[in-house]
Amino acid sequence: MPPKVDLHMTPGGRDADEAVGREMYALVTELYPICRSITGNGVRQTLGILGRDVPLEVHEVPSGTPVLDWIVPREWNIRDAYVKAPDGRRIIDIRRSNLHVVSYSVPMRARMTLAELKPHLFTHPASPEVIPYRTSYYNESWGFCLSQRQRDEIVEDEYEVVIDSSLEPGSLTYGECHLPGASHDEVLISCHICHPSLANDNLSGIVVAAWLARALASRPRRYSYRFLFIPGTIGSITWLARNEDRVSRIKHGLVLAGLGDRSAFTYKKSRQGDAEIDQAVAHIFNHAGRPCSVREFSPYGYDERQFCSPGFNLPVGCLMRTTQGQYPEYHTSADDLSFVSPGSLAESLRICLQIVEVLEQNERYINQNPKGEPQLGRRGLYRSLGGELDGASRELAMLWVLNLSDGRSALLDIAERSGLPFAAVKAAADALASHGLLRPAHRSDMKRPPEREPE
Ligand code: ZN
Repeated sequence: MPPKVDLHMTPGGRDADEAVGREMYALVTELYPICRSITGNGVRQTLGILGRDVPLEVHEVPSGTPVLDWIVPREWNIRDAYVKAPDGRRIIDIRRSNLHVVSYSVPMRARMTLAELKPHLFTHPASPEVIPYRTSYYNESWGFCLSQRQRDEIVEDEYEVVIDSSLEPGSLTYGECHLPGASHDEVLISCHICHPSLANDNLSGIVVAAWLARALASRPRRYSYRFLFIPGTIGSITWLARNEDRVSRIKHGLVLAGLGDRSAFTYKKSRQGDAEIDQAVAHIFNHAGRPCSVREFSPYGYDERQFCSPGFNLPVGCLMRTTQGQYPEYHTSADDLSFVSPGSLAESLRICLQIVEVLEQNERYINQNPKGEPQLGRRGLYRSLGGELDGASRELAMLWVLNLSDGRSALLDIAERSGLPFAAVKAAADALASHGLLRPAHRSDMKRPPEREPE
């Protein structure tokens, strides 16, 4: 296991970020050549590599298993695929890029003319240099993807077409990492693991999730954390079908995808729209010091579609950089290792850790001296807080925390209402608590009827 790098939000964080970014990028590079799909050995191999650093339980769910409205498909594996010209040259060759074969192509071995081959060739005419990524999961077919440039060079002739694949009863494979915390309440982190050589749309999410799991494994946790490394759509449906009785434990969740490119962060809210995770991410974005955007939920995207289906309606949002499908490299060979960067990966991990930190620390307190303001100076509280804030802001943070700590507002509510960063509010609460001016709220405090508003 590589040395642990402390990713806590310390001033020395930049150097740590660089070291972490390099290691994350090395893992993206190692996983990049593997031919993954929604089932098969590519997923197993990927999980095997992730399992070196993350305590991963690997599940195998047999083909044919009913899962909600779906059925676990047959397992697909591929050994070779090519189109060979009469002179023996492989003019399309999976060994050059695994994007060349349509994922889930059925086995094929035939000689055919270009006219017969044509309906099975897929290009991306708008970007003539790139190979598109295509799948055929749920209807039996076969095909090759290639650049328009490459397609234009193929002349009328007879070609040998080989897809040495198998589509047979087997299983769907997914990985799960459970990190128990003080509470059974869970934070769900999910990413898809079903794309072949695509760096941003797939590997970035996998690697950020893996490093988040690594970072959280070595620190005390209030919540339990459940990380899912699952094939898109069918994987989340399978997991939900097998864990229906446990989903009520999920209090917050994030789907991680497309986190390695160089653009700004985007967060898509959960279907609930006002969940604590939605509030936490928006707060981190507001104080990030650079543009970040928050979007409303829509039933189009990654696995949040399943977690937020009405029968579950879990508080799960989706953290991305450029939104799915909104960049020209998306689902093409241009989403390669040069499209993602170590710095972006490390920054994505850092923002995930900041979000988790808010969730972990977002508690409610009760002011123990609610009648009039307590005298802070007598207790030495004006100068007791370290950190970035000047004295006046520290005092302001304490006044806000004291005023709103009636058991109804959590620290994040206080941060939002005051406009102060969460960390400042948390530091104020710690200082006040250490002087006996606050105590953590209990369940019974929150059951009290709300105080009447003045007329
Ligand atoms: Zn995708």
